[in-house]
Amino acid sequence: MFLQIDDAIRRNGELFEADLSESFEQQLFNGREIVFAEPVSIHCSYSYDGKVLSIDGFVHTVLKSRCARCDKLFDETFQVPYSEKFVNTRFASDYQDEECYTFSGNMIDLRESVLNCIFLSLPIVSLCREDCKGLCPVCGCDLNVETCNCNPDR
Ligand SMILES: [Zn+2]
Ligand SMILES: [Zn+2]
Repeated sequence: MFLQIDDAIRRNGELFEADLSESFEQQLFNGREIVFAEPVSIHCSYSYDGKVLSIDGFVHTVLKSRCARCDKLFDETFQVPYSEKFVNTRFASDYQDEECYTFSGNMIDLRESVLNCIFLSLPIVSLCREDCKGLCPVCGCDLNVETCNCNPDR
């Protein structure tokens, strides 16, 4: 996922826009499997101030998620804000104290930062739909499509 930044380097302070998209293979984060049902795309604007390239935008994809209530796999649309700074390696020593990505040349690989952005914004609980009824705790049937007579509340 490479962002070409010749323009921003030539014209410091100006804002440019980019759309990038790439298919990511399955990822593992904190023991959690992250499966992408669609390519990951980023729509962003970026500018360079002579030392730091700032990128702001949105990351969008569709995840294959498992519903926390009914255990069904479903496609979960996922969009999160993305905001990162990449320091030119020539000035990296000025930014030692900050946790920044670095770049050199006229291209930035956004892959790592985009994945981190996704990892840090993963939904804690995924539901196939807001009013998912889940599984019956007694017989295990899917209460979205079946009704049973267990009535665990009684
Ligand atoms: Zn569900
Ligand atoms: Zn039941």
